[in-house]
Amino acid sequence: MQSPPTLPKLSEFGLIEQFFAQPALSLSAAQGRIKLGIGDDCALISPRAGYELAVSTDMLIEGRHFLPGVDAALLGHKALAVNLSDLAACGAEPVAFTLSMALPAANADWLAAFSQGLFALADAYEICLIGGDTTKSVQPDGKQAGPICLSITVMGELPQGTALLRSGAQVGDDIYVSGTLGDARLALGHFFKEWALSDASFASTRLRMEQPEPRVTLGVALRGIASSAVDVSDGFLGDLQHILSRSHVGAQVMADALPKSAALQSEPLDRQRLCSLSGGDDYELIFTAAPSHASAVEAAARAATTRITRVGRITADKTLQLLDHDKKPLENRYASFDHFI
Ligand code: ADP
Ligand code: MG
Repeated sequence: MQSPPTLPKLSEFGLIEQFFAQPALSLSAAQGRIKLGIGDDCALISPRAGYELAVSTDMLIEGRHFLPGVDAALLGHKALAVNLSDLAACGAEPVAFTLSMALPAANADWLAAFSQGLFALADAYEICLIGGDTTKSVQPDGKQAGPICLSITVMGELPQGTALLRSGAQVGDDIYVSGTLGDARLALGHFFKEWALSDASFASTRLRMEQPEPRVTLGVALRGIASSAVDVSDGFLGDLQHILSRSHVGAQVMADALPKSAALQSEPLDRQRLCSLSGGDDYELIFTAAPSHASAVEAAARAATTRITRVGRITADKTLQLLDHDKKPLENRYASFDHFI
């Protein structure tokens, strides 16, 4: 009987060289920003004169942010997508990112799929992997394998003083949302047997949960037009509340005007509200703009080929008031995701 072929063992540095030397690195490097990428103690970035760097970090932990056994290519996409979404919310153009990984083992098939998913998205947005850290993940006993932990830090650039911030909303501004909300939550509910979806609904909403598309182009197009912005990672109400708190204002939101996919619209009204108002993981943008900028907002959305919907208005009264389709107050019993409560 033939013994199975012995695979060459992957070393830490072999692994980085084999799977994380980004083929398209020269593309962004050619634009002159990345002076030095992977391989030295530091990477070197030289920002354009008159621009500033926008920096953001997001972590993904197995069992917390994704299910064990999830498709590695989709995970590579999502790990970067959730970070690009933060750049989008600031209106920054992606430049570079670092990737830190704690892995229970160096599995070549898993790494090949993960890096393929990661770089497909990186290339689409011309963002360069310039460094990171790679370690084995273990339990506190130091022996048994630990969960997969991924942390990405993204760097983007924007002309000085043009970042879209959570703190800029003004009384009277319109509130908009990009794309549709609630699909990721709808798919998750099916997964955990809270409800049962048709095969077609699960297929389409699962894609939204596993392969979110960051709204980078829209974010950049909204610079100088939107007064504030945030991306929806924990849920519409919770993330809108970040804008309200930092801007010291309130809002009136037409709960049933939140944009929803055909799959979510075919669900009972209460579930539609639950998913769209409090479901996380959508990675759409919530933004505000003065009514006088309404046509500029429309033009920005058209240029970014991204659907947007007006869902409410910023108020001086510092509460977040929900209205139903008859403009009657709707009780807010839709909590957003929080890691510790
Ligand atoms: P140091 O010990 O000085 O922190 P390392 O030996 O950990 O550096 O890493 C060597 C090089 O490989 C560094 O340039 C680092 O940025 C890069 N690197 C390590 N892990 C990754 C990764 N997962 N993705 C991309 N680059 C990485
Ligand atoms: Mg290191």
